[in-house]
Amino acid sequence: MEAPATALEEVEANIALACKRARRETGEVTLIAVSKTHPPEAIEPLLQAGHRVFGENRVQEAQGKWPALRQRYPDVELHLIGQLQSNKADDAVALFDCIHSVDRSSLVKALGKAMDKAGRRVPCFVQVDVGEEEQKGGCAIAELPDLLAQAREAGIPVAGLMCIPPFDIEPAPFFALLDRLAADNGLTGRSMGMSGDYETAIMLGATHVRVGTALFGQRG
Ligand SMILES: *Cc1c(COP(=O)(O)O)cnc(C)c1O
Repeated sequence: MEAPATALEEVEANIALACKRARRETGEVTLIAVSKTHPPEAIEPLLQAGHRVFGENRVQEAQGKWPALRQRYPDVELHLIGQLQSNKADDAVALFDCIHSVDRSSLVKALGKAMDKAGRRVPCFVQVDVGEEEQKGGCAIAELPDLLAQAREAGIPVAGLMCIPPFDIEPAPFFALLDRLAADNGLTGRSMGMSGDYETAIMLGATHVRVGTALFGQRG
């Protein structure tokens, strides 16, 4: 096999290999290219290569960058992967095609209202605090069934669960835990795995991997 020409090709090849090893179809895994902090000039080459799924972690930054890019690439799919304040729910619903960080009742209520108002249902992931580290957000495992029920009641389409495991610890057990929680709650989506561990996450059932550094290089 020839060496991949670009970081995108390399990551895609790694995903394909992980899927093959896991006896999964490559199409079961969506690569979210995490472009946070990177300017449009850095994003453009991926768009030109045909990639369309991107992730940002701040509403305001995405509002500044994406409307212009979207005019030229209208089929872009934009995912919000960072923590969301309830007062930004309207903006998030207007701009994003998927929200990965739903983690509390107040946000569920705000998003439900925002979706009603906009007449637009945005699929969401419920973020779970698998490592029990409050600073990263995520709902406590014990509160997950309640929060899922509230989301359904508010008319929010729940695509699955998302997690950010603790740094510097083997992530596999946390991915396995998220996979089991999703199965227990009858959900198909598992948003897990970043540059350092997306192949492991795919082995353990990830449907969405969120990869920044491996595609764009280090953030400034
Ligand atoms: C920044 C970020 C990523 C991407 O991290 P990399 O290590 O650069 O791949 C993934 N998920 C979330 C929630 C992030 O904030």
